[in-house]
Amino acid sequence: MENSSTLLKKWGFMRNSEQKTESDTDIDRVLTLLMSSLNISDSRPIIPMAHGEPSAFSCFSKSQFAADAIAEAVQSAKFNGYSPTGGVLSGRRAVAEYLSQDLPEKLSPDDVFLTMGCKQAAQTILTVLAGTKSNILFPKPGFPYYEVFAQSCHLETRHFDLLPEKDWEIDLDSVVAVADENTVAMVIINPGNPCGNVFTHQHIKKVAETARKLGILVIADEVYDHLAFGKNPFVPMGVFGSITPVITLGSLSKRWAIPGWRLGWLVTHDPNGILKEHGIIECIKGYFHVFSNLPTFIQGALPEILGKSKEGYPSETINTIKEAANSCYKGIIDIPGVTCPSKPEGSIFTMVKLDLSVFEDIEDDLDFCLKLAKEESVLILPGISVGLKNWLRVTFVMDQSSLQEGITRIQDFCRRHSHKA
Ligand SMILES: *Cc1c(COP(=O)(O)O)cnc(C)c1O
Repeated sequence: MENSSTLLKKWGFMRNSEQKTESDTDIDRVLTLLMSSLNISDSRPIIPMAHGEPSAFSCFSKSQFAADAIAEAVQSAKFNGYSPTGGVLSGRRAVAEYLSQDLPEKLSPDDVFLTMGCKQAAQTILTVLAGTKSNILFPKPGFPYYEVFAQSCHLETRHFDLLPEKDWEIDLDSVVAVADENTVAMVIINPGNPCGNVFTHQHIKKVAETARKLGILVIADEVYDHLAFGKNPFVPMGVFGSITPVITLGSLSKRWAIPGWRLGWLVTHDPNGILKEHGIIECIKGYFHVFSNLPTFIQGALPEILGKSKEGYPSETINTIKEAANSCYKGIIDIPGVTCPSKPEGSIFTMVKLDLSVFEDIEDDLDFCLKLAKEESVLILPGISVGLKNWLRVTFVMDQSSLQEGITRIQDFCRRHSHKA
């Protein structure tokens, strides 16, 4: 009789050991490793600067009206049936109207597919685009779930660079250099995770033009849409859908601080009908016939939730996040051995570069983070998890006192591990 593990492998549910590539660099594994390094006899609170979980901090929990909208949707008994493919019409319409506010051409509900968070939207489009020889371009540094999703549907991945000295703009020459005739799309994340940058209007127009020249789509992860608090306002990629087709991915998770509700969207911007002509829209629909079965009452609450959010973020929330970003940046630039090439202006993260020559006994970014967790109970993500070795990704969404405490502990740690003069 076959044992269960052979069976699971046969059915493709378990990865073979030889298939495991960079298995210890994905975020969840590294977080587990960091957690296990914590010193349980340290009585100080843990400072969580590794994981962006806005719902954990009271200053971001401003979604009472969203909770009311859910209760109302349930009580109305209008959303008890199965969800239609692609989502409940009123929910799709609400997303179309919400996003159309910032677009030259109005979206229709048919352009919108409701998903289980932004992650399922990403997984869907990668699965749809995977072909025998196709490859896709991801930013470096980037969001590691894309690598996992591409791997799971056997889509080859290639990487283009983001430029720290240019506010993390895309190195468009590197996009052209890695693309070939089998490239299907490039992914951009704006506002940026992990870099905390916001692309200018001019830059994303150039991105669209480059994609057009290469004959590829742009997949725009805008899960942090409108979370911009620096010199550049947020401009959605969909604005340039007439240059090249754009697929926008988003969700309620970050903006409304409700990641556990799992409501996201995949939106097509295809004014020239290119996606339709190539059968991509049909493939997306086909995927949802099989895989989409979202709870309906959450979809039913969308008109109320999005309708009440038209004015953008409450200025109070934006100011809180901006203050947190500024004090994080100010604190970090004073620490010996670390530099922050650009001040965070969007999302909830920033990338910090390690100068290993300053330290006496730090091997690399992972070593830095493991020792920091052990000695100071501060959690920071090593850059290797997002594709950039010897950098760190720092989250600043937390209350000011935890943030200050975290920065002080990092300062102490760096001084202690520096070469003595
Ligand atoms: C958090 C995050 C996601 C996942 O969003 P969900 O709605 O929770 O699935 C996707 N992309 C980026 C860049 C993120 O930071």
